[in-house]
This record gives sequence, C-alpha cells and structure tokens, in this order.
Amino acid sequence: MPADRRTPPPGGHGYPGRIIAFEGLDGSGKSTQARLLVKWLGALGYRVFFTEWNSSELVSDAIRRGKKQNLLTATTFSLLHAADFADRFERHIAPPLRAGYLVVCDRYAYTAFARDAARGCDPRWVRNLYAFAPRPDRVLYFRVPVATSIARKLAAREKINTWEAGMDLGLSESLLESFRLFQTRLKREYDRLAPRDGFVTIRADRSVEEVVASVRQEVRPLLVDFPTAEALVHG
Ligand code: ADP
Repeated sequence: MPADRRTPPPGGHGYPGRIIAFEGLDGSGKSTQARLLVKWLGALGYRVFFTEWNSSELVSDAIRRGKKQNLLTATTFSLLHAADFADRFERHIAPPLRAGYLVVCDRYAYTAFARDAARGCDPRWVRNLYAFAPRPDRVLYFRVPVATSIARKLAAREKINTWEAGMDLGLSESLLESFRLFQTRLKREYDRLAPRDGFVTIRADRSVEEVVASVRQEVRPLLVDFPTAEALVHG
C-alpha cells in the first residue's frame, strides 16, 4: 500500500537520523521483520540502530512489583510506561538519531496509545503524556486478523503473558480467551490510529518473503539522499 498523503515528511522532527517504527498486534511478525530490515539496511551500508520495547532499569522493578501484586491501575500503569519510554528515548533513541542513524524501533509510543486506551485511559490524556516523543518518519503497521496473532503465538509455543492477555481487566478467566478479547480491543485501537497518524498499513498475514518486499518498498523512499556510512566518511 503506498504511503498515505498524511505521512509526515522525513526528518520532520529535526534530527539528522530517521525513525522507522514497527507497530501491530503480538504475533503480527514485527520482530521478525524489524530484524530483517536492520540486516538489509546494514548490508546496504547504512548506519542503523535497533531498539525494542523493553523496560528500562529505571522503572522495571516498580512495574514488575506492581504487576505481581496487581497494584497498578490503568492510570499508574500508563504513567510508569511513559516514564519508562521517556528514559529509553533519551538514553537509547535520541543519541543515534542525533548521530544520523536510521533507528528501527520494534514498537514505539503507539503501543502505549493502543494498550492504555484498551485499558480504559483517555486517549487524549495518553497522547499528551507522550508529547516528548517525536513523530517517526515511517510507522509500519503490521495488520493481521486476531486469529492469525493467536495461531502464530500458539505455533511458536510462546507463553502468553498475563499482561499481553489483559488478564488484569477481568475479561475472562481463560488466558487464551482473555488474550483474544484484549487483542481484539488492541486491533480496534490500532485501526483507529492508522489513518489519524499516517501509518503505512502492511498486510502482515502473508509469507515472510512477501512482507519483506512490502517493508522494503515502504522504506526505500526514506533512503533517497540519506547518506551511507561510507558517504559520511568520504564527505
Ligand atoms: P511480533 O514481534 O509481532 O510479536 P514475531 O516476529 O515475534 O511477532 O512473530 C511471532 C511468531 O510468528 C514467530 O514464531 C515467527 O517466527 C512467526 N512469524 C513471523 N512472521 C510470520 C509470517 N509472515 N508467517 C508465518 N509466521 C510468521
């Protein structure tokens, strides 16, 4: 699908680097594709940095303890994640952006927009919390039916974690059914964000190779006039 006219212009954030964000349901194939993209960009000679949506040391303890004892409300959970992302942005994302890298993010602030809204937070309040996060140059939304997300998760024998399943919301006593219901909510949120935030929607329920071809097609325009490491050295 071609880039939407609402896609912000590359570099609109003012950093010399570029942000390419991967978003979508669990099991939509984001990590697989993000890693393949990083390899491809590296092989083409670009300076590329990869970052994942992991908790930083700053708040991971608080989040872990809060989750274990079910102490977190949707609001406190959202605030902790925003603090976590702010820390990660300053420490891990901004430095390579300033240094002119292509920064590939496996999940970005939109993950919080979708998850927090699915947990009942006011979307405008959440968006405001993340005002520090610059708009990416591309957001690739890996769109799959919820059934595909579940099937891949089960096929990979990956353990479904209780938070991914939204068990704190009491949607169902069954982990799998709760996962299905929560992922359905997330999909609704992502589908709402997609036109609003100019996501490029990638049909991710296809083979890995087909999805790779779509990802490259969508990323190529960002590379026009973007210097490779060699070009930077030789000026
Ligand atoms: P995510 O990062 O979105 O949770 P992953 O990339 O970890 O998704 O993929 C989840 C599972 O689905 C993994 O076992 C992966 O090998 C598999 N997978 C990824 N892409 C595809 C695809 N296009 N078709 C079938 N299985 C896939």
